[in-house]
Amino acid sequence: MQRSDGRTPDQIRPIAFELNIAPHASGSVLVAMGNTRVICGVTVEEIVPRWMKEQGVTGGWLTAEYSMLPYSTITRKQRDIAKGRLDGRSSEIQRLIGRSLRSVIDLEKLGPRTIWIDCDVLQADGGTRTAAITGASLAVTIACKKLLEEKKIASSPMRRLIAAVSAGIVEGNAMVDLNYEEDKAAAVDFNLVATEDGDFVEIQGSGEEATFTQGQLEEMLALGRNAIAQLIVAQRNALGHSEWGEAQSNDPVASPLSSGTGIPPLRSE
Ligand code: UDP
Repeated sequence: MQRSDGRTPDQIRPIAFELNIAPHASGSVLVAMGNTRVICGVTVEEIVPRWMKEQGVTGGWLTAEYSMLPYSTITRKQRDIAKGRLDGRSSEIQRLIGRSLRSVIDLEKLGPRTIWIDCDVLQADGGTRTAAITGASLAVTIACKKLLEEKKIASSPMRRLIAAVSAGIVEGNAMVDLNYEEDKAAAVDFNLVATEDGDFVEIQGSGEEATFTQGQLEEMLALGRNAIAQLIVAQRNALGHSEWGEAQSNDPVASPLSSGTGIPPLRSE
């Protein structure tokens, strides 16, 4: 089965990362997944939220914000500030981004500081939340390396890279990395987040227009996992070429992938 843009069901869109695009951020990445483009910027503040102090929780915190720029969609999307409230979708997405990144960051190691991840969609063509997670993983890694360089921490709190992708059932066929057109036509819609060693972090899925079988679920999981493995390779390549990312063999981010734990063999392009 060929898709509207000529891809096969298991094929992700072209992925590209541009690192360090925002000089004042501790880490920043422009991630492009086909026509979906998201800016992920990380700021590190030397404070923790008040609730942590009040509850005597030690270590640091990581939180995320997500928004779609007004011109990221075909018809102008009003800014939340103009509406006077954060829309439910943005709120759900930024919580997903925060949860996903917290699953791979050692908050004790981070020390008493807060990592802010700001994800702003420049161009939306489906899969903006998953692209945001894939980009944020790199931006946080870069920010942690900067903290290391500044000798604010002794070792990177970023334990593993994560990446995310969508999957769905369109006209009865399971496929990965849906564009907007496919997303609109999808009867079943999934978002998968996983680590570089193939462990799932979060799976969101619903049959909004149809039910799905266990076989279809397994197919979407396999497609998603394979796609995520490809995204992780792209992330590692991007880091390898960055001034922050010269991977050392004792680098906690570098080691799991190089040891190849659990990730299924990649499909050759
Ligand atoms: N979309 C849009 N305006 C909105 C919300 C979504 O144009 O207010 C489009 C956009 O292309 C987005 C797609 O619909 O990528 C799918 O939206 P969804 O809520 O499934 O999130 P995403 O797939 O972007 O994570």
